[in-house]
Amino acid sequence: MDKDKIAEYKKKLEAERILLMKEISNDEKPVDFGHDVDHFDEETDEAEEMSNHLAAAQDLKSRLDEVDAALSNIASGNFGICEKCGARIGDDVLAVDPESRLCKNCKLAE
Ligand SMILES: [Zn+2]
Repeated sequence: MDKDKIAEYKKKLEAERILLMKEISNDEKPVDFGHDVDHFDEETDEAEEMSNHLAAAQDLKSRLDEVDAALSNIASGNFGICEKCGARIGDDVLAVDPESRLCKNCKLAE
C-alpha cells in the first residue's frame, strides 16, 4: 500500500487512540451516586445506570484494542490485509474505519 496513505491512516488511528484513552480515563473516575438512596426504585435505576456505564467502558476498551491492533499491523507491514481471507482491504473501507480487520466481502459475510 501507498506509504502516504498508510501515514494518513496512522495519523487517524493515533488521534483516535488519544481520544479513546481520554474517554476511558474519564470513565474510570468513580461515579458519585450520592448518599441519599433509600428507595428501591432509585437503587434499581442506579444499578441500571452502572451497568450501562460499564458496557460503555467495555466498548471503549475494545475499540482501543482494535486501534492498537491496527497500529501494530502498520508497524509490522500487515496493515490493510483482511484477517479472514488475506485480501487487501479497500480504501473505501479503511477511509471510514481504519481499524477494520476485515475486507468488505468478509464484513458482509459476517
Ligand atoms: Zn476478507
